[in-house]
Amino acid sequence: MQANPPVAVGASERSVIGILGGTFDPIHVGHIALARAALRELNLAQVRFVPAAQPWQKTGVTDAAHRAQMVQLAIAGEPRCVLDRHEIEHGGASYTVDSLRAARASLGDAVPIVLIIGSDQMRTLDTWHQWQSLPTLAHLAVALRGQAVLALSCALQAFYNERWAPASDLPRASAGSVVELPMAPVDVSATEVRALLAQSALESTAGSAPGSTPDAATRTARLACCLAPQVLDYIRARHLYA
Ligand code: ATP
Repeated sequence: MQANPPVAVGASERSVIGILGGTFDPIHVGHIALARAALRELNLAQVRFVPAAQPWQKTGVTDAAHRAQMVQLAIAGEPRCVLDRHEIEHGGASYTVDSLRAARASLGDAVPIVLIIGSDQMRTLDTWHQWQSLPTLAHLAVALRGQAVLALSCALQAFYNERWAPASDLPRASAGSVVELPMAPVDVSATEVRALLAQSALESTAGSAPGSTPDAATRTARLACCLAPQVLDYIRARHLYA
């Protein structure tokens, strides 16, 4: 299905909706910081967290119901953040382009939609399913993640430059621009969190209490920095990532 071309948006239809897709395995403070930065810097009406059912570029991910539940817990106190279960309810391989089509179908052609991504995703955008269709469905906001410059391939740099616009332009059209999303760097990844959790699980299997050795205490403190307390409690209660 081809998307309609982006439409100009009237002054009365300024609400911009953000879509933040991901594996969220598990959701961490970097994801929340990204959503907060997008709400603030791009003046969004809402950020929709869309956990992938089956991320097609990852294997061995945690059950989608757990990942969605952790997202729900993490955003409970975050104004204007909502959980969008579209990909999970749809099941199967999750493609961002399909989720954007679904969001476009439910919001209509005039509402500006912005897909929020970290720079790691921007660097591999041209491997995504039907990636060239993305700007026909939404704007793109790119946050630098852990590095000073984007460092894109020539093709992606051209794609970026052709569409680059100041963030203040987002409400002017429903889709089509690429904007920078400034945010303070948050040095955390779900990969690191999973490794920390697996290591703590090993220690408790070996009989030591959490935090009882210097290394374990450092790990426990780091986990408390990376995850919302309610997410950490959820993980521990269900022995996830063990
Ligand atoms: P993993 O380490 O398992 O690959 P991840 O931490 O990158 O996971 P994802 O669920 O894949 O998390 O990320 C969802 C989105 O959030 C992506 O666009 C990613 O670039 C962005 N993101 C994740 N962590 C950060 C962070 N620390 N700062 C800014 N953006 C982030």
